[in-house]
Amino acid sequence: MDPVNRLKILSSHMDFEPAEDYGCPKLDPAKEYSGFVHNAVMPNGQTIPLLKTLLTSACERDCHYCPFRAGRNFRRATLKPDEMAHIFMAFHRAGIVKGLFLSSGLIGGSIRTQDRLLDTAQILRGKLGYRGYLHLKIMPGAEFDQVEQAMQLADRVSLNLEAPNDHRLRYLAPHKDFSAELVRPLKWVAELRKNRFQTNPWRNRWPSVATQFVVGGAGESDSELLSTTEYLYSMIGLKRAYFSPFKPVENTPLENRSPTKLQRENRLYQASFLIRDYGFCMEEMPFDASGNLPEGIDPKLGWAQVNLAENPLEINQASRTELLHIPGIGPKGAESLLSARRKQHLKSSEDLRRIGINPARAAPFILLNGVRPSTQLSLL
Ligand code: SF4
Repeated sequence: MDPVNRLKILSSHMDFEPAEDYGCPKLDPAKEYSGFVHNAVMPNGQTIPLLKTLLTSACERDCHYCPFRAGRNFRRATLKPDEMAHIFMAFHRAGIVKGLFLSSGLIGGSIRTQDRLLDTAQILRGKLGYRGYLHLKIMPGAEFDQVEQAMQLADRVSLNLEAPNDHRLRYLAPHKDFSAELVRPLKWVAELRKNRFQTNPWRNRWPSVATQFVVGGAGESDSELLSTTEYLYSMIGLKRAYFSPFKPVENTPLENRSPTKLQRENRLYQASFLIRDYGFCMEEMPFDASGNLPEGIDPKLGWAQVNLAENPLEINQASRTELLHIPGIGPKGAESLLSARRKQHLKSSEDLRRIGINPARAAPFILLNGVRPSTQLSLL
């Protein structure tokens, strides 16, 4: 089978990942490549067409939720590093893609698999002079030197934890070792960032790091997922946690398990951003008795209804962290408020509007110059 068709097979299963010289084939930019290309938002906020693919969809492991698990009967494909690098460059030169997200099933062990991913990246960066976006997977059980090499080649590296702890991972992937194979390489990422001065030569900075959880596949609670996420943000410098709702896959041990509701995914993202960007801690999350976030209300509003409805915050005195706890005020709004307060005492909803804050969401939880804004504002 020719490399383009193998790539088509390899890319066709990538919707489960959230989220990014064999002779170059001649490609027609006008042709439809929707099976290959995903529009992806980059860490800098820009949206680019991204080729999201695997080097191989063969795998020797048997994770219980995964479409690629060993022994599952479906059509698999493999590209060699050289083939992948050249075919990607052909797409890139034809203007069809602007970035590459490259992962792989595990064949021949973690180290050999990681080597093939690194070989592909080396060919792209070295021989083919590719300078665009590259998101490279770190394989479970990769070695320290391989993690370092990946960090020198990629704009983003990621390693999927899948579950928040060892106990839950046993249900999803009984043959993966949570600490040794998954957490340890992530710790090396943090260690390299801290101790090595030689950064990624393509960007003159280290790549960002991300992980993914399969939500709802192992009976874990939101509280378990978010406490691991909080640890990764603070200790590893994680840029992004992806919460991928569990979807049962035919002919896997979890095929009869119910899919996870999208609303749970949304609430987890909201809560994780509150922890990462808004100064919230785990104790402030409005978990129910089973450790889950209420589905019907955004966690920031839920917290404010309990904590601020009777004790509104004075906008002219609240600290930055307190401002960030008020619904309707984000990091940009908090900065605008702090800088406006240095010049004037804020007295009215109009003062808030002038600095770009819509007072409607904040009104039930604030005081302006000692006075609650009109409740009518919440209808605006
Ligand atoms: S190692 Fe990765 S690709 Fe292989 S079965 Fe597990 S999750 Fe799937």
